[in-house]
Amino acid sequence: MSPDSNQDDGGVQDGEPQVESGESGVAPLLSVQGLSTGYGDSQVLWDVSLEVMPGERVALVGANGAGKTTLLAAICRLLPAWSGTITFAGKEITHSRAERVVKLGIAHVPQGRRLFAGLTVEENLRLGAYTRRAGSAQAVAKDMERVYAFLPKLSERRDQLAGSLSGGEQQMCAIGRGLMTRPDVLLIDELSLGLAPNIVDDILEALDTIHREEHLSILLVEQDVQIALERAERGYVIENGRIVLSGTGADLLESERVRAAYLGEL
Ligand code: ATP
Repeated sequence: MSPDSNQDDGGVQDGEPQVESGESGVAPLLSVQGLSTGYGDSQVLWDVSLEVMPGERVALVGANGAGKTTLLAAICRLLPAWSGTITFAGKEITHSRAERVVKLGIAHVPQGRRLFAGLTVEENLRLGAYTRRAGSAQAVAKDMERVYAFLPKLSERRDQLAGSLSGGEQQMCAIGRGLMTRPDVLLIDELSLGLAPNIVDDILEALDTIHREEHLSILLVEQDVQIALERAERGYVIENGRIVLSGTGADLLESERVRAAYLGEL
């Protein structure tokens, strides 16, 4: 774990796709290098670099307002990058359109879930399939059953309006909608927000199964540092728009800085 910065190779690239391999010889699935962005004149992210390897679970943790949601928005191309590069599966997407990013295999489960309250669970899931890369009606139906198998509660609620679901069920529906795009990586923003601990555990277990069985990469953004780092192979800590610490989930959980600043210890 690097104690104060992971920005060792965060130089802005020259527009060519970055496909170089890391130490392991495997190229990252998602790579953000030297990213800066913000809103209007107000800069929020400063030279942020982060990677997600194929099949890896990565946590991005930090306090309220640190810039986590902003980073996900930039990766999903909902917010333009001011500088830096974003590459996915060897293709540079820094200036791609948001729809293309979804088609390439990045699914975003936004904070607040953003479901269509007046549509049923099944209709919301279908909207996920609408933006998918390819597939017949039969393939969509098969994937829907796959989502229901991972999240059985959703199956029970398939004809219920999304607006009438509990918070946990809404989070499951938002994750299910993401899965319907057939992603290679799922970006989940504040999974635990407003949910009871036992519900969070159920959702995390479902994600573990999906991760294991489908080799799905997950970038989990959380204010709840314990929840996020416990299951992550690697993690990053963001403070005031800068990555200040990175390492394995276990190392970060043991680090003095994380324990003091986020876990109320020491
Ligand atoms: P939270 O968990 O509270 O969402 P966060 O780490 O995700 O925290 P961001 O939502 O990315 O943080 O916010 C980072 C900074 O950007 C904050 O200072 C916030 O006020 C500002 N910000 C976020 N969205 C906008 C916006 N649409 N316009 C202007 N400033 C924004």
